[in-house]
Amino acid sequence: MVAKRVSIFGATGSIGQNTIDLIRRDRPGYNIVALSGGRNIAQLACDAIDLQADIAITAFEDLLEPLRVALTGTGIEAAAGQTALIEAASRPVDWVMSAIVGIAGLLPGLKALEQGATLALANKESLVCAGALLKETASKHNARILPVDSEHSAIFQALVGEDITEVERIIITASGGAFRDWPLERLKTATLAQASSHPNWDMGQRITIDSASMFNKALEVIETKEFFGVDPTQIEVLVHPQSLVHALVGFKDGALMSHLGAPDMRHAIGYALHWPQRKDLPVQRLDLGTAPALEFYAPDLERYPALRLSYEVMSKGGLSGAAFNGAKERVLDHFIAGRIGFLDMASLVETVLEQADAQTGLIETAMSLDNVMRTDHFARTEVDRIVSTSTTYK
Ligand code: NAD
Ligand code: MG
Repeated sequence: MVAKRVSIFGATGSIGQNTIDLIRRDRPGYNIVALSGGRNIAQLACDAIDLQADIAITAFEDLLEPLRVALTGTGIEAAAGQTALIEAASRPVDWVMSAIVGIAGLLPGLKALEQGATLALANKESLVCAGALLKETASKHNARILPVDSEHSAIFQALVGEDITEVERIIITASGGAFRDWPLERLKTATLAQASSHPNWDMGQRITIDSASMFNKALEVIETKEFFGVDPTQIEVLVHPQSLVHALVGFKDGALMSHLGAPDMRHAIGYALHWPQRKDLPVQRLDLGTAPALEFYAPDLERYPALRLSYEVMSKGGLSGAAFNGAKERVLDHFIAGRIGFLDMASLVETVLEQADAQTGLIETAMSLDNVMRTDHFARTEVDRIVSTSTTYK
């Protein structure tokens, strides 16, 4: 068997570590080209050595020296910074895990597609900001994008052998995050520590907070439109506290196909890693006889304004997704820094979306990398300007 050449971007994060866990179980099947990380040099170096990667890259140039030291005598290249990341993403491989958090994952993903790799996409932000660009790049280079988000992997699996034109609706589920049962009044007081703990999934801090605010689900609604090309009116969200049903696909004959599984990202990662085959995965098998009762209910859009905004973003189209994501990433920075409250995040994003709309040529313009980055920059700068000039915030 020929070993699969693999690179993992965001290798030190939650998705990256789950990917490495699967690869380590079947070590001879893989040839690791590049691993990238951020500040956790010890983890990055340890995995690079263990997996005998060709190159390890940290996103931060000031950490090049510690990474070099950690890799001394191993023959593994050490590199740092954006240019090095792009160079590594341009090295030919068969499969790339895109698991950097935020828009920083966009360019490495595009580079991976340009060299024809299969892109396993956990980095939903890149699809939200630049869906058309990613898809165009994939088709131009005969590359493929596979979903890794659990809901989108579930939809993808429910669609095997089906015709997308026969799909009536797609339902993605949401656990409801840390504040599922909190009334609106109480949400105003939600702290960083409270928002950073998820009832069902063990994930990176940013996506965990985005789950509590439903910004994560908002991104996923847009991700559903981009991945499967359905109309926004066909996409529904249901709160499902048990996180066992990940998505459902409804067909025009009324049939509803659902995907169930334990809340373990190794399922979706493993499906993308082995696709189009299925292989044994170390995930818990569900025993529905003893599982808790499955509940579903419609989300309260007043408590979760992010969800309402995602439909506005889709109806505006253009580069609205880039403005939405850029503003969302920046308000999250401010919430984490303690400058704004939990509910301020959605109201600030809404304000910035209105401002972006009012700028000629910002949203309604051609989808190109430069334009995406310009819109992202505008949204971030506007968030910063409002937060620093308003007396409402600290
Ligand atoms: P994480 O915070 O645990 O890890 C993020 C990784 O990205 C780390 O390796 C970090 O070093 C790297 N990184 C951070 N900023 C960077 C930058 N500016 N440049 C280069 N690298 C940078 O995040 P995660 O939870 O693993 O999520 C990764 C992606 O997967 C996100 O897009 C998230 O939305 C998506 N996702 C995660 C889960 C999950 O279960 N964790 C589920 C579905 C989708
Ligand atoms: Mg998800």
